[in-house]
Amino acid sequence: MAPVNTPAVLLRGHDYGDTSRILRFYTEGHGLLSVMAKGVRGRAGKGAATLASFSSGELTAFVRSHRDLHTMKDFACERMREGLGRDVLRFAGASAAAELVLSHAEQEPHPVLFDALESALDRLERVDPADIPAAALAGLWTITKAFGFAPQIDPCVGCGETLTESGVGRFDLAAGGVKCAACSTDAIGPRIGPRARAQLSALIQGGLPPSLTHAHQHLGLVSDFVAYHVVSKPLKSLRFLGGVMPEDADAAP
Ligand SMILES: [Zn+2]
Repeated sequence: MAPVNTPAVLLRGHDYGDTSRILRFYTEGHGLLSVMAKGVRGRAGKGAATLASFSSGELTAFVRSHRDLHTMKDFACERMREGLGRDVLRFAGASAAAELVLSHAEQEPHPVLFDALESALDRLERVDPADIPAAALAGLWTITKAFGFAPQIDPCVGCGETLTESGVGRFDLAAGGVKCAACSTDAIGPRIGPRARAQLSALIQGGLPPSLTHAHQHLGLVSDFVAYHVVSKPLKSLRFLGGVMPEDADAAP
């Protein structure tokens, strides 16, 4: 059987037996792949070090259809993304992106999701410190959107009318987006005004809104949305991210 080659991001790994590891990659060519990496723990030097979470490179593996576990032949690391390990907030954002992908991705190619994950990790590593919360949120929203669950911000999900510049609506989780004031009299979601709507729209498109405010409320919103629409149980890494996110991330320029 010939091995396959594909660009891949290492998301997680755990030890298996005395010398091996089971590694979970998100790959461009095959989606989520779990591979057995035999003998890698006995290996000294650089080769073993590059098998670290959030590394990107070229995975060579023997992939059998209808199997859950495959066999790694080689991983040629191109980007270690070591910067993610040096800052707890960057690391927490990357962990949340990784857990979200692991929780819902399947063993089938999804290039848009692959790009969303790679872009999120690259940006989390390099972005200015003040923009790390926005980068983490944008990463979560773009991955959620790639899964096919983007919320509708405008027009209103109730009546279809465009939300006015000044109007405060509510985010209705079950309805999948924002409702105008008239439609949201019995909605229980968080109130969301024009500024928060603009910030949320930018984040869903993968943009970094200048001077993001209320990062914790934004994180609560994406966490609730993901728990409602994408995964069945809350993701631990989202709580971790909330625990390390600065209380007021208002990064006025
Ligand atoms: Zn409405």
